[in-house]
Amino acid sequence: MKKKVSRKAKNPYSWKRSWAAEKRTDPMSIKRISELYMEFLDKAKTEREAVEYWEEKLLESGFIDITEGTKKGPKPGRGFYLINREKQIFAGIVGSREILDGLNIVLSHLDAPRIDLKPVPLDGDRDTGLGIIRTHYYGGIKKYHWVNIPLALHGRVVRGDGSTIDIKVGEDETEPVFLIPDLEPHLSGKVQNGRKLSEGIKGEEMLVLAGSGSIPDDEDERAGIVEEVLRLLHSGFGINEEDLISSDIALVPAWRAREIGLDKGLIGAYGHDNRVSSFCAMQALLDLVKQKTMPARWVLASNFDREEIGSEGNTGARSQSFEMSIYEMLNWVGYRGTRRELMNVMSRSFALSADVKSGMNPMFKSVQDPMNSARLGAGITITKYTGRGGKVGANDASAEMVGAIRRLFNEGGINWQMQETGRVDAGGGGTVAKFIAVRNMDVLDVGIPLLSMHSPFEVLSKLDVHTAYRAFSRFFSGFTQ
Ligand code: MN
Ligand code: MN
Repeated sequence: MKKKVSRKAKNPYSWKRSWAAEKRTDPMSIKRISELYMEFLDKAKTEREAVEYWEEKLLESGFIDITEGTKKGPKPGRGFYLINREKQIFAGIVGSREILDGLNIVLSHLDAPRIDLKPVPLDGDRDTGLGIIRTHYYGGIKKYHWVNIPLALHGRVVRGDGSTIDIKVGEDETEPVFLIPDLEPHLSGKVQNGRKLSEGIKGEEMLVLAGSGSIPDDEDERAGIVEEVLRLLHSGFGINEEDLISSDIALVPAWRAREIGLDKGLIGAYGHDNRVSSFCAMQALLDLVKQKTMPARWVLASNFDREEIGSEGNTGARSQSFEMSIYEMLNWVGYRGTRRELMNVMSRSFALSADVKSGMNPMFKSVQDPMNSARLGAGITITKYTGRGGKVGANDASAEMVGAIRRLFNEGGINWQMQETGRVDAGGGGTVAKFIAVRNMDVLDVGIPLLSMHSPFEVLSKLDVHTAYRAFSRFFSGFTQ
């Protein structure tokens, strides 16, 4: 629905929830997008699985891998992609204009907070006879959220001979799950109840139940239990204890995405942060190619890894893998990919840094400034700046960039709301925007409001997923700055 400019001029800005307006866009579309999104959530719980999922979808839709020395040229409207180390994926559509005019880019990330295994994780407890997996959590979690819930094991192991094996245990109903057992209220009085909330469960207490095999009385207390767990690992996957040192294995919630509320308007799931942004951008690309839309400017969806630990490493947003993807595109078009050409593309590109944003929580409204906070179901957020305490660590988009996107959304009937992360000095956060903006690009934070962020079961509105999908579709095809 188009915002009434004349009315807005008289009235102050205000957010609005718009089931009616969003449904008018295409009632079947909300259902379709929600179902596709929930399927993605259930199939892709790690960054590797997400990359694999997207590659399959892209190939089905005729996108081509431009790192494979393809004979197909950069014809306008053609879909293409590049993968870095199986953990990061860039996908785009060739525009009718020159690539040197810059791209419209949606940035997101595929990693999510989780419980990683320690390199030497297996242990046994003689007193209880239980096998234990030691862990080191990944990303900013409230540890007490992650106890007493069914967990599944996902990951890759590189064996001693160099061969690899992917592990997934606990997703199928017939498979066992894992669990971190918290202490019952009857006995937690002295040792736990007086602790600060942040220490209710401590890092070294995140012990996962790995097995309950019997241990011979006279054996070394670790050996018996570990041996039993290793025997099972070896018979199932052909791996030994040293192999676990060369692995990426995580424990993630074993449950599936579910609808929440009697009206089924919300979705609860593990990993909305930030698979929702990846999904909305990638689905928009797939649909644009299917509809044979030819964008004026080249468009790109950049799905990064490692955001939850600071965008570090060779698959994160700080990595030159981003430059590498632009080089590959330039080479595909026939440019040598000089520094000058690369700098031109960077400085003339526009990016939406898409990530989840804190939605107003009815239990803790005091942390938000109601005038500047997001509501579930009130549309995609425009977040001028993130950061904490005096905007430290924020990209803080320019008035011009915010103005351009606000106009784009208003003209396209995209319901949006203004958002900042809580009251001044209440806390804060950030995402990949600033790491891409330093490449001399105009970047604006946008996002989908969330409740229960970084918990094993995060909540968002179907309405906002659909609005974000439409927003990215419009940004890709209709932003011709
Ligand atoms: Mn995020
Ligand atoms: Mn996060």
